Amino acid sequence: MAIVTCPQCDNRISSQFSLCPHCGFQRGEVDEDELREHRRRKIRDRVYYLKMASYGVLTLLLLAFAWYWVATDNFRYQSSSGPYILFTVAAAAYLVIRSLLFKSNLALKKIRRI
Ligand SMILES: [Zn+2]
Repeated sequence: MAIVTCPQCDNRISSQFSLCPHCGFQRGEVDEDELREHRRRKIRDRVYYLKMASYGVLTLLLLAFAWYWVATDNFRYQSSSGPYILFTVAAAAYLVIRSLLFKSNLALKKIRRI
């Protein structure tokens, strides 16, 4: 077994891999299982990053609420538009991330079922 450099992404990979685990570059014959495993890993990674992004956006929602609370001095006064804008942007981003996550999870289930 030797370590070779992938010609497409320049990452170092084992010469036993016929499919680069980083970019999916095919070196010679690739069987169906290997290709499916590569796709499954890619989607699993995407699910991981989307989950992290959704936690980040939830933190922004909490920050928007805290900002509103401070800006209104315990809900007694009118707030500037800043907290509303942050809340709206974070809520929209959260919805987009959740729908992407939903789609990725469906794709993951489909790959496992084959
Ligand atoms: Zn590669």
